Amino acid sequence: MSGKDYYKTLEIEKNASPDEIKKAYRALAKKYHPDLNRENKAEAEKKFKEVSEAYEVLIDPKKKSIYDQYGYEGVSQQFGQEGFRWENFSHFDDISDIFGDFFGGRGGGDSIFSSLFGGGRAGERQQHRNKSGSDIKIVLKLTLEEMYSGTDKTIKYSRYEKCSACGGEGGLKSDVKKCNDCQGTGQRKYKTQSIFGTMMQVAICPTCEGEGTIIEKKCKECYGEGRVKKEHTVKVTVPAGVFDNAYMRMDGEGNTGKRGGERGDLIIVFQQIPNQKFIREDDNILTDIHITFPEAVLGAEPEFVSIDGKTLKLKIPEGTQSGKAFILKGKGMPELHSSRKGDLYVKVIVDVPKRVDQKTKNLLKDLDKNLKSQH
Ligand SMILES: [Zn+2]
Ligand SMILES: [Zn+2]
Repeated sequence: MSGKDYYKTLEIEKNASPDEIKKAYRALAKKYHPDLNRENKAEAEKKFKEVSEAYEVLIDPKKKSIYDQYGYEGVSQQFGQEGFRWENFSHFDDISDIFGDFFGGRGGGDSIFSSLFGGGRAGERQQHRNKSGSDIKIVLKLTLEEMYSGTDKTIKYSRYEKCSACGGEGGLKSDVKKCNDCQGTGQRKYKTQSIFGTMMQVAICPTCEGEGTIIEKKCKECYGEGRVKKEHTVKVTVPAGVFDNAYMRMDGEGNTGKRGGERGDLIIVFQQIPNQKFIREDDNILTDIHITFPEAVLGAEPEFVSIDGKTLKLKIPEGTQSGKAFILKGKGMPELHSSRKGDLYVKVIVDVPKRVDQKTKNLLKDLDKNLKSQH
């Protein structure tokens, strides 16, 4: 087989089932998500694109059968000259629940899709922009405990809603007139000079903002916009295992567009409030436990409260050194949309008391003598 080995890229066997293909892709997509690989973003993006290309082909029975018969050459023609591009990817939905729909974002330059993948779908959406309402991004802060168990939250925010005074029209129907500046097309053409010669560029008509019509007597409530700002609340069910900077998109909960335009979405970005006791690393949790010097020498079984609020015991054997970590399997964070859990790493710290009474001092002196005589 010439060209790329998609099976190798996804780390699967040739006879993998669609479920296995999907599972492999989801795991790798998560691994290479550029947001989770900030130090190595460029490399992660490249890998992420590679696994997505492999998935695009292997999950589609038609493309897969062409690939199995003719190899990379058979499918590469579909991608265009420079090979696979994000425009060719048609399975965003299959991973959007992991990351939230970070490929969306109609709203301008900070859209994650456009910043990550440059244009593509973002450009396509631009055309509807004047009509569609923008997305609203909200940061929802969560404790690690809430991320562990999942939680329900009520979010209150301000958004554009249809103006009830004019029914979203911006004025009376009889006052709606054709825009003279663009002859009702909503577009204006401009000539521009570039290295390719004179080019015609089409832009949205600024007079009517692309509507093609203007309202002579505007609605007093909304000044002709057909929408007004209102407070709104939504209930959000945060799934267990959600991670820092993951997104969740709620369709149609964003701003209503001008003059009857459709609603944008609400994008909720989860952020973890720093935790004093537990540190998360992927699905694993790191914590410390403090013991005394005698406990370290003789062994002990101290109790501690874990992330789920339950009391756990840790068996510490005789002669445990300070800094030694013990792994409690399956006591870490739950994996999103799965029953699997990460591990809990408990690091033992042997405390040195800063001040002790005379009796303890005498005991320690004896102990010191004893220890030295044993060498
Ligand atoms: Zn109105
Ligand atoms: Zn116009």
